[in-house]
Amino acid sequence: MRVLITARIPEEIVSTIRSEHEIEINEFERPMDRADLLARVRDKEGLLCTISDRVDKELLTNAPLLKMIANYGVGFDHIDLDAATARAILVSNTPGVLTDATAELTFALILAVARRVVEGDQRTRKGHFRFWAPLLFLGRQVTGKTLGIIGFGQIGKAVARRATGFDMRVLYYSRTRLDASIEQKLSVEHRGLDDLLTESDFVSLHVPLTDKTLHMIGARELNLMKRSAYLINAARGPVVNERELVEALRAGKIAGAGLDVYENEPKLTPGLVDLENVVLLPHVGSATVETRTRMGEMAAENLLAGLRSQTPPNCLNCSRLASVKAR
Ligand code: NAP
Repeated sequence: MRVLITARIPEEIVSTIRSEHEIEINEFERPMDRADLLARVRDKEGLLCTISDRVDKELLTNAPLLKMIANYGVGFDHIDLDAATARAILVSNTPGVLTDATAELTFALILAVARRVVEGDQRTRKGHFRFWAPLLFLGRQVTGKTLGIIGFGQIGKAVARRATGFDMRVLYYSRTRLDASIEQKLSVEHRGLDDLLTESDFVSLHVPLTDKTLHMIGARELNLMKRSAYLINAARGPVVNERELVEALRAGKIAGAGLDVYENEPKLTPGLVDLENVVLLPHVGSATVETRTRMGEMAAENLLAGLRSQTPPNCLNCSRLASVKAR
């Protein structure tokens, strides 16, 4: 069968897929532009795509032969799952293998924004480190503070585990509350969203982007946070109303923000880059050699299984497709 791979991935993974299928690959570092993507997917049975590719109704209509979409990533808000399911196209993702890398990066953001790591580095390089003084370049201590985690799935829990090393009190908000025994084991306390925002020194977002989580954090929620608190977003940009975040940061409603993702990625909301109390990363939550390799292996396993008419190990819509078939 014919497979389109929309981004450069490790060569050994490409070889594994090539051993069973004919491959077309985007050889450039940048994502495929829309017209190119639509043209090249037209005669393909398999698609290995990333967050940079919008897999919507238009693309699916344009790809009449498509059987299998293997997403290289855990979040799949860029794929119209309903439209793919209606066409009986299998869709998979790569859950779990990004957990540790993204939790690490979340902590990097927490520490960087609270201890002014990036600002300090920039000033030192510019020759502004001339002497040590007791009140110079003060940040906020992380140890012993309260961390509020919104979305307590795999990454949220991995962040909570790391927080115990900093003696933090951990609050969480998820729609499903854990059993009391598990809460106790993880040393976490459940809160409603507003209470979590009010009580936390650091609020860290780990929900998927859905119609329920779009703009979950805006002016009202930022107003509930302490003026000394920080917002961390390594989930998806549109979970936060970025314009209202810039206003809150400017007005000192919160102390700072650490962002890995943006509402209109890769564009930044005007005003964001002018703020000193933010740390801005280019969506690198999963960007470690180990994780990106494993993501590629999983995406390939899913793709190959789907094209062999087997159930991909990380299928997102197989149970829905099976229940449609059973009816
Ligand atoms: P996960 O295990 O599915 O966890 C997501 C959690 O969010 C679940 O526990 C879910 O619990 C909760 N949730 C969903 N909707 C909610 C709502 N409306 N209100 C409150 N909680 C809600 O996923 P994960 O592996 O932890 O990944 C989370 C997200 O991180 C991904 O979807 C992806 O977008 C993002 N991510 C970003 C990067 C990066 O590079 N920055 C890397 C990896 C992942 P309930 O359903 O019980 O509420």
